[in-house]
Amino acid sequence: MKVKFIGAAGTVTGSKTLIESNGIRILIDCGLFQGIKPLRELNWDPLPVLPSTIDFVLLTHGHLDHCGWLPRLVDQGFKGKIYCTSPTKDIAKLILLDSAKIQEEEAEKANEGKYSKHEIAEPLYNVAQAERVFPLFRVIKINEPVPLDAEIEAVYTNAGHILGACSIALTLENKTLVFSGDIGRDNDVLMYPPTKPTKADYIFLESTYGNRIHPDTDVKAELEMYINNTVKKGGTIIIPSFAVERAQMVMYLLWQLKEEKKIPNIPYIIDTPMGISVLEIFQNNRKWHKLPEHEYIAMCKMFTMIRDYQETIDTIYNKQSKVVIAASGMITGGRVLSYLEKYIGLSETTLIIIGYQAEGTRGRKLLEGAKEIKIRGKYYPVLANILEIESLSAHGDQKDLLNWLSALENKPTKVFLVHGENAALDELRIKINEKYGFDCKIPLMGQEFEL
Ligand SMILES: [Zn+2]
Repeated sequence: MKVKFIGAAGTVTGSKTLIESNGIRILIDCGLFQGIKPLRELNWDPLPVLPSTIDFVLLTHGHLDHCGWLPRLVDQGFKGKIYCTSPTKDIAKLILLDSAKIQEEEAEKANEGKYSKHEIAEPLYNVAQAERVFPLFRVIKINEPVPLDAEIEAVYTNAGHILGACSIALTLENKTLVFSGDIGRDNDVLMYPPTKPTKADYIFLESTYGNRIHPDTDVKAELEMYINNTVKKGGTIIIPSFAVERAQMVMYLLWQLKEEKKIPNIPYIIDTPMGISVLEIFQNNRKWHKLPEHEYIAMCKMFTMIRDYQETIDTIYNKQSKVVIAASGMITGGRVLSYLEKYIGLSETTLIIIGYQAEGTRGRKLLEGAKEIKIRGKYYPVLANILEIESLSAHGDQKDLLNWLSALENKPTKVFLVHGENAALDELRIKINEKYGFDCKIPLMGQEFEL
């Protein structure tokens, strides 16, 4: 069989791995490239094989960088089944619709403001194209073999990253290939710890935080301090957040702090229509997370939930101190941009970054101390206080990644390290080799291997 790395190789986005065996083609994840422009431009390129010749897509989870290219795949002729868990299906639908809307809006705005260098800006896909993906989803149960054909089966196991997120063990030609997907933390506020693989001939391991150990800090105490300091100055706290699961986790921590009377009585706002919809998915998938129902209900009551953009505008112009959770998490789009247009230039504002920020994103630039940022064609000076709470990431750190390999009963033939930037990939390679003696390979984009 052959494996070809066509995304998330040497970078963290655009996850796509193609497996070919006896005329069957399987694509593991079908993600969108995000971040720096040369990466985003890859979204416009065709795949190295015709989408109509791919038989199955196996989705590890519903994040955009794992499912966001599906509308292009379907538009270009893919007609097979897309296997995923039930929460992944619900989340992927939300994410794809949201992504399509953002792309339509951005194209429209670019055409209005004429800040695009192209004659007419086109969306990568529109809402109708995103909706064409939905009939192809097939829901599977975790921990049970899913037969893809007589000779090939897949088993999904909990990856602890977001609701419904899984690792996938694919058995074919008497070999087991384990795709980690994104791996969560062993000690997460909302998610159960990832299930470790016990047997694998080949491993495809994510490396997002391959060179980082999350600081062992009290994240609640940090949030408390940042909020109280900002409110004292009369400022607003903005928390850009991934709408799926991180937003809910921050809501939960804020609710706990408020219950403990450690943060003041000011408006707490969740301004991400998708984040609000994800709350319903939490409600419908209780076995996937640790949040008790009565706490979930009390938490929801504490927040003003904004769906309508007019309310966003009203909130932005209300000078009162407030805490706003708004998407997108890496500040690449979404309503957080509207808040930043107004607040990033105010020294009393605090911006709290809580998730991984890919290279080239506004979030990464702010973390690296950018003095100005560009939003919708216009530059804004950065006077707000930019803070980071790294331990709130939905990704395991180097220790978690190493630990995920600890239950293997055999030595895998090879561990392919994917979904990381170069420094993270290389350090993780060295650590795995030192700790377990496994042979690691960092594939390049487009590289193919015979297994
Ligand atoms: Zn993810």
